Amino acid sequence: MADDCIFCKIVAGDIPGRTVYETDEVLAFLDANPLSAGHTLVVPKEHAERLDDLSGAEASELFAAVHELTPRVESAVDADAVTVGINDGSAAGQEVPHVHVHLVPRFEGDGGGPIHAVAGERPDLSDDELDDIADDIAE
Ligand code: 5GP
Ligand code: ZN
Repeated sequence: MADDCIFCKIVAGDIPGRTVYETDEVLAFLDANPLSAGHTLVVPKEHAERLDDLSGAEASELFAAVHELTPRVESAVDADAVTVGINDGSAAGQEVPHVHVHLVPRFEGDGGGPIHAVAGERPDLSDDELDDIADDIAE
């Protein structure tokens, strides 16, 4: 548990959360400031700030919970879809430095956008640049 981490405190039961799912490794609870009805956060119980700080096993447990919960959340609020996302790092909008997956129920005509709406200006990349980036990621 990390000092002053709000999600560690929810995991520990020191501050209240509306828990919707729990395993030995993962907890899910409703977001306190929901973007839509049913907005749920899925967190590893062990404190980790970024995705890269999770072990492979922890990441698998986290995604297994996301896989299990996404249809449950969708049907609980009678949504049409779910946006699943992680703000991984402050430049991506992460405000709580404890890994969390957002499950945001979506409704036809809700006025929201796709994941593509989150980034800023699109880069104009040449084929060579795209090849280099792909190589760097694949290495
Ligand atoms: P981030 O911007 O870090 O990806 O998202 C943090 C999320 O945590 C926000 O959607 C915010 O509403 C939620 N949040 C912040 N503090 C609390 C809290 O004390 N309890 C709960 N349930 N959610 C919180
Ligand atoms: Zn924490």
